[in-house]
Amino acid sequence: MGVRRYFLLSLIAFCLTGHPVKAQTFPVLIAKSRIAIADLRVFVDYDDDSVTSAGPVTFAGPGTFAAWPLDKFGGRLPPDQIARGIRMGLLLWASVLPDMRFRMVQREAEANLIVRFGPYRHSGFADAGGRAYLPDRWADSANGDCGRYEENKWPDGRACGEWEHNIIILQQGRWAVKRADWRGMRETWLDFAWIFDPALPHYSLDGKCRDGKDPAAKWSDTCTPFRESPAFDSLAGVDLAPIFQHEFGHTLMGDHSFSPYECVEYTRRPILSKDRCVRIGDEGFTVMYPGDGVDAWWNRRGVFDGDAFRLKALGYHVSYPVSRATLTLTRPGGGFLKTKDWREAQRAMIWPLQRGVLSAAQAKRELFLVDVELDP
Ligand SMILES: [Zn+2]
Repeated sequence: MGVRRYFLLSLIAFCLTGHPVKAQTFPVLIAKSRIAIADLRVFVDYDDDSVTSAGPVTFAGPGTFAAWPLDKFGGRLPPDQIARGIRMGLLLWASVLPDMRFRMVQREAEANLIVRFGPYRHSGFADAGGRAYLPDRWADSANGDCGRYEENKWPDGRACGEWEHNIIILQQGRWAVKRADWRGMRETWLDFAWIFDPALPHYSLDGKCRDGKDPAAKWSDTCTPFRESPAFDSLAGVDLAPIFQHEFGHTLMGDHSFSPYECVEYTRRPILSKDRCVRIGDEGFTVMYPGDGVDAWWNRRGVFDGDAFRLKALGYHVSYPVSRATLTLTRPGGGFLKTKDWREAQRAMIWPLQRGVLSAAQAKRELFLVDVELDP
């Protein structure tokens, strides 16, 4: 698999819920979700002996479908970083939900939530992202046998859906965790701006690569040598922490929030908006917008006004903007903030208070969430 393909896969990071998308009807039944989060036991399933429909990849005994999460370059994420990404995704919610208690477990049999990475192809979320379930779809217990050896199948070959058995599935790549620390909006935006620059021959017309000044020319991933982007190496992948936070958010709140506009619009010139890259609706930013492939690449570890609004509307106990965890934010060169106030954290991140891309001066000042320590 070439570099271009890797990049394209991670460009569009979207996900599905195990439920047809429909208008949100309040109140969603959250009784099952409230029971589940009061004693959440999370097993993370990945290994390096994956079996796919094309046969064993590296066969060493009875391989399972679960696979090792990869970064954009095809390298493996170290186990401590996989754990950090998943834990941080959970801690973000726990920081504002006083009723949420969770622990990571080492044995699947103890879990009531399984998080499984794999080379998913048929589960409906195409090439990147993940699939979760809605708050009224928590099963009484998790069952990891669904999809154990083959996607969407029981071991005996009958069909099943992982998301009907308390399994959140995540694509195998292209993730970053430690290498997403300090990766900011401006840096990401400059990379994407290069990718979509209408002055460069990244567009196709009549089968030939050319610039995008002619509105009839369409952006083409095969015309774009992504590795030539000045920012290519510094952006290692989609940040696993906020993407898992988003997936778990489906199990708390249901479907996506309505997205007021998109940063990326392929038919627009320029395709990438500088002024509307932060989608802020009437209730403020939320991590539950459908992915447009951009905002999970930057400084998005947080809980925001729109998230708190929805959680409260559904009937959860919510402490926001007060955090039940100490939030640690840092930046390259030594800037530092410890706070228990999500709005103070957002001010330090800068972008949640503005729609547009950070200026160079702002980018020097912005802080990044690197640790969430729950109160004892
Ligand atoms: Zn989603």
